[in-house]
Amino acid sequence: MAGKTLERTVEEAEHAAGPAIQEQGRRVASLVPVRTPTEAQRLESTTQAAVDATRSLAVNTDAVRRFLLARRPERAEQAFIDAGRGVERPEQVFTNAEEAREHSNAVLDLARGSSSAQTPGSATASGLALRALSDEHLAQAQETIEGYSRTVSDTWFTGDFLGETVYRRYSGTPPIVTGEDDSWLRAMALATGGYHPGTYYPGTNHIIVGAYEANREEGDVLKLLAHEQLHYAAYLGGGQTVRWRDDSGAAILQPRVGGWNIHEGTTELLANELARANGYSPSGVAYTYETSVCFALEQVVGQEPLRRAYFSGDFTEVRRLMDERLGAGTFDALMACSSAPDAFSLIMGKVGAAGVDYHSWESNPIMAQCYSQIAVERFR
Ligand SMILES: [Zn+2]
Repeated sequence: MAGKTLERTVEEAEHAAGPAIQEQGRRVASLVPVRTPTEAQRLESTTQAAVDATRSLAVNTDAVRRFLLARRPERAEQAFIDAGRGVERPEQVFTNAEEAREHSNAVLDLARGSSSAQTPGSATASGLALRALSDEHLAQAQETIEGYSRTVSDTWFTGDFLGETVYRRYSGTPPIVTGEDDSWLRAMALATGGYHPGTYYPGTNHIIVGAYEANREEGDVLKLLAHEQLHYAAYLGGGQTVRWRDDSGAAILQPRVGGWNIHEGTTELLANELARANGYSPSGVAYTYETSVCFALEQVVGQEPLRRAYFSGDFTEVRRLMDERLGAGTFDALMACSSAPDAFSLIMGKVGAAGVDYHSWESNPIMAQCYSQIAVERFR
């Protein structure tokens, strides 16, 4: 791209993202409280504002990236093809829990590094009681969690379910799951500003869950592990880059952050379906709105096309089927929604308008769970 043209493109990108950045600035300013009852509350709100600001910066960076890609079709085409190859083998492969636990500690150090300037030794400085498990208890929890993980890998993730390529890669470098004790989880939550019961680390075959999971209901633990192990399987297949071709065949790459997350919703949907197909009844659904949207999508386009799209990341066929059944432009409108509740309203509106009978969906146990959780969340 010639200098002048590039300059103009960057200017246009700044122009496109500018209002969003200004709006975020206003939001952050209003989030930082001038006075709160306690110092701890002030610290918490300020940390939250900083986390929100960082997240929104990522959203805006992604908006600029998408804008530039849209204006450089040859770049988008190459990115589309690269993503479609998936990952033959993660960069970092662990073969046992000891190795992976060193990675857990490295990840925590890295997360702490970014916030240590303001809060040296943050976990202890804030006065939180650390309940580190004894080595013996941690080893017991680890063994239990590994057993659950094997159930998912060996019996739930069949070749038919994952598809040939993902199955081969997944079997070649199976996931290593470590159960971390509360001290690790709390320190991580403090350093990153968010608490997660489970995390898959892209670029590796490592999954972290809380060691306390070993004592929870079987169905809930298995569902959580299936969720994280699905993220890993989809990473191997190219599923982490959600993309599709438009009517002219042009490559479209969905931003990784911002809007609502179809990858997360399908992950939770498939995890719940697997658990129920294997005789378990998990007590809760995570990402209720995202999961509801993906459930509706699955009813419209069918299980097989959605599952293929999930593992490969290529939603072109899902887009075609959805537009065929609910009207041209429906998929693009769905993907353009800025939140999962908006996406849910949109898809249900289209389903109703197309005369699809959705009344039986409510008696599906996963949807029933979503509806009841959404009702509770509303009154909070
Ligand atoms: Zn997830």
